[in-house]
Amino acid sequence: MSKSLYWNFLGCEAAALAQLKGEYNAFQDETPLLVGNYLHSYFESEESHKSFLDVNKKKLYKYGKPEKGLKKQFTDADKMIKALKDDPSFPYIYKGNKEAIVTGKINGIQWMGKIDCLNLDAKNSYFVDLKTVDDFHKKHWDDGQHKFVNFAQQRGYILQMAIYKELIKQTFGINARPFIIAVSKQSTPDKAIYSIPDEDMQEQLNELQECQEHIRDVIKGTVKPIPCGHCDYCRMHKTLGSIQSIDDIEIF
Ligand SMILES: [Zn+2]
Repeated sequence: MSKSLYWNFLGCEAAALAQLKGEYNAFQDETPLLVGNYLHSYFESEESHKSFLDVNKKKLYKYGKPEKGLKKQFTDADKMIKALKDDPSFPYIYKGNKEAIVTGKINGIQWMGKIDCLNLDAKNSYFVDLKTVDDFHKKHWDDGQHKFVNFAQQRGYILQMAIYKELIKQTFGINARPFIIAVSKQSTPDKAIYSIPDEDMQEQLNELQECQEHIRDVIKGTVKPIPCGHCDYCRMHKTLGSIQSIDDIEIF
């Protein structure tokens, strides 16, 4: 089941619109997406992982043949899985409904989300999203804020968790606490569990209200999408039409 259309527009609007029109595929290199799905299907259930391996065998195995073994990215993904499953706390935290679908409306716009692990049974309800990250400590440039931010801020994870929390409230009437369990793609994987401050999520939801109206107009075609200027799509469509001073080159 696909998530609501608006999710894509929280990243680069120009790329999202081109993708919506069928003019561009944002996943030119689908390996990072496959690595994420490989790990997610493992922790969803044994059957899900088996079926994922079967459906994607051409992409996962060397020469597309299981007898030749997994490609390096996926033996690395096995290391990430091992780092989590061998952790003494992980099985106690990562239990509940896997891939739970939640829906709702935020300021009149329909949203849908898929929660990796939703635990409504415990005295304190919570949900967990698994994230695969290159390196937790890598810095990412944020154009809007004009400063370096961490991976969670750069990838919009705080807003994502705020939307999930709101959709869980609307679907089940429960205020659940969000956690991100992140695991790194380094040769010895790093791992961490993060909480998200309520005020950060509220701030993001406030910004979403304005942003949603703009996205609606972009999809309608009445307003032009804002290009991020850095993604593959933006680089592909860059021209030498405007000259900038060499002093203005941003470094990140
Ligand atoms: Zn872009």
